[in-house]
Amino acid sequence: MNTLIKNATIITMEDENKIIRNGYITIVDDKITFVGEHLPEDFLPQIIIEGKGRAVLPGLINAHTHTPMVLLRSYADDLPLQEWLFDRIFPVEDKFTAEDVYWASMLGMMEMLRSGTTCFADMYYFMDEIAKAVHKVGMRVNLSRGLQCFEPDFDAATDTRLIENEQLFKDWDGEGNGRIKVYLGPHSVYTCVPEYLEDVAELAHKLDTGIHMHLSETIKENQDCIEKYGKSPVRHMYDLGLLRPNTLAAHCVHVTDEDMDILAQNNVNVIYNPGSNLKLASGIAPVGKMMKKGINVALGTDGAASNNNLNMFEEIHLAALISKGVEREPTLINAYQALKMATCNAASALGLDQVAGVIKPGMKADLTIINMEKPHFYPSHNAVANIAYSVQAADVETVLVDGRILMEKGEFKTIDDEEVIYHINKISQRLFG
Ligand SMILES: [Zn+2]
Repeated sequence: MNTLIKNATIITMEDENKIIRNGYITIVDDKITFVGEHLPEDFLPQIIIEGKGRAVLPGLINAHTHTPMVLLRSYADDLPLQEWLFDRIFPVEDKFTAEDVYWASMLGMMEMLRSGTTCFADMYYFMDEIAKAVHKVGMRVNLSRGLQCFEPDFDAATDTRLIENEQLFKDWDGEGNGRIKVYLGPHSVYTCVPEYLEDVAELAHKLDTGIHMHLSETIKENQDCIEKYGKSPVRHMYDLGLLRPNTLAAHCVHVTDEDMDILAQNNVNVIYNPGSNLKLASGIAPVGKMMKKGINVALGTDGAASNNNLNMFEEIHLAALISKGVEREPTLINAYQALKMATCNAASALGLDQVAGVIKPGMKADLTIINMEKPHFYPSHNAVANIAYSVQAADVETVLVDGRILMEKGEFKTIDDEEVIYHINKISQRLFG
């Protein structure tokens, strides 16, 4: 299938100044074959997308979320993390069925596509259902089964969660033309005993796959870890062998200089979730400092119960604004750097070599097209600043993943949205009355 996008403003993300006005993108099957100002003469498109008044971005990548938590959106708010998680969230999650998770992940994907996200890193359970839903919808994903274990004398050979995560890897890693990747998901230092974490590290090594975890999210997590193990969560995870170049460490809010050095030396990817960290009053990650130390920082929404949406543009806005305000340094995270966190940095964090979060020939065609003919985009002095500071999720018009159009002018091509809403209402009725 040959697809052409014409007359568009192309924000390539190859470098800060490489923005092509009235440009053309040609796509053959799943890959971009040309990006430039003049249409190659021999290209015969079967699908033409008119890009006049439109900006084309690399599809946004949500590097840390728990998609089915959309079912818990606005259910428990304005509480500290420990109380929110253990007293409100976990008890309802215990009632979720596999079918609930399937429909919730469909709802989450509707929301993500509507806000320009093409790929996400998900940690949850009933992951098989999420894999099925992603396979059907056509998004790109990195899945990990949330792993927890409070018993030091557990048996790895019979641990259901570990077995499920390994089975998920065997069943789904590389499926959907390589769109689906599977990592291991040790939840955190406070939900996994050290012996268990060591086994997770060993399994990740055996499967040659990555690790997705929460790390140093709250002061309480740090204090408890120091009290129990005599070291910070970062040092603890490092000693247990979990900090690697293909580790996604969500949050890293309360990290010391020594912690940051450990993260940098081990090429760990830090996933910054400003919305969730603010809402749960966890604090603000020192991302400016981390970036100066050479740590790759990507962005995530976290689950919709602590955000309360999956809109990556909101995270980009927050990322660009918060550090300036907190560290009183207006140049700290500029518009381009904030956008990189949701594109190139995130692609690198998730090991997506064929996506790379840039628009250039040879890369997979994961693209988000934005309608710039809105009052809040005029006059157009700087397209990147417009995306980082002015864009709204509702401006997203068309989204492609792997060269396939998943949403066209706001209409889903692979999701029956009425069917999804019908099921979500039914599930909500059962769970909450
Ligand atoms: Zn999380």
